[in-house]
Amino acid sequence: MTTTEVENFPGFPEGITGPDLMDRKLQRILLAYANLFLCRSIPFQFYPKVKCHSIIFATGATARRLNLPREEEFWSRGISACAICDGASPLFKGQVLAVVGGGDTATEEALYLTKYARHVHLLVRKDQLRASRAMQDRVFNNPNVTVHFNTETVDVVSNTKGQMSGILVRKPDTGEESVLEAKGLFYGIGHSPNSQLLEGQVDLDISGYVSVEEGTAKTSVDGVFAAGDVQVYMLNFLPLPCSGCIAALSVERYLASNNLLVEFHQVNDIRNS
Ligand code: NDP
Repeated sequence: MTTTEVENFPGFPEGITGPDLMDRKLQRILLAYANLFLCRSIPFQFYPKVKCHSIIFATGATARRLNLPREEEFWSRGISACAICDGASPLFKGQVLAVVGGGDTATEEALYLTKYARHVHLLVRKDQLRASRAMQDRVFNNPNVTVHFNTETVDVVSNTKGQMSGILVRKPDTGEESVLEAKGLFYGIGHSPNSQLLEGQVDLDISGYVSVEEGTAKTSVDGVFAAGDVQVYMLNFLPLPCSGCIAALSVERYLASNNLLVEFHQVNDIRNS
């Protein structure tokens, strides 16, 4: 819902905004007679208000933010947490851009952005990268990426037109500050899974991601499944609809094997009315 332009979703050659895409999906789901309930918590241990035999959690993960002083002002107008979602936007094409972070996400984002940007700066707070050796090699061997070690990101700066024009950076050892010219700043400093609802109810891994049986969407509780970014972070780099399909098929198998499958017939198809 926080994604602005989606330019790579099949069926929308002109692109579509994240909220519009969600709205269209919702309309289609409601046509299939699904019920929509908006709720903030689901206590499995109590008698549920909505009875169901199975549930899929797909609550996603939230990109960590730096909370820079001008972050809100430039969010989606220069600052982004997803190079793959926003990198091809006209705002960034042919510009000098920067990525903050030193892990696999940041290095992957920096390399991805070289497809569109004039040059990419990678801002790393320590004197080394945390990324895998393979990603480090790719970054160091790419002439369109400059790695800045010992560089803290302090804020973004703007020009007289109010557009983002640079990044205020600081050397942690000397405290020396300078401005690096850049029209975009991408965060690659990790994600936090939105799994608070499930704490103490299903098994989570040490970082809070929902543990599932390998190759399935099954959690530690029978009938409870997880899909998408909340399940395993690495899935972020596979097509997420695949993870949703695996979860849906897992539910169908679970219901069938427990004799809980109920056939559903559409009696009054509103699409034809
Ligand atoms: P990581 O936790 O591995 O790395 C986060 C990076 O962000 C670190 O370099 C960290 O710096 C830096 N960072 C965190 N907070 C700040 C801050 N406030 N200011 C500046 N820098 C900050 O997260 P990733 O998202 O990169 O990766 C998560 C997992 O996903 C890893 O296991 C990774 O291997 C995997 N992954 C694999 C990919 C692949 O195989 N293609 C692609 C992407 C991710 P510091 O090092 O100083 O703590």
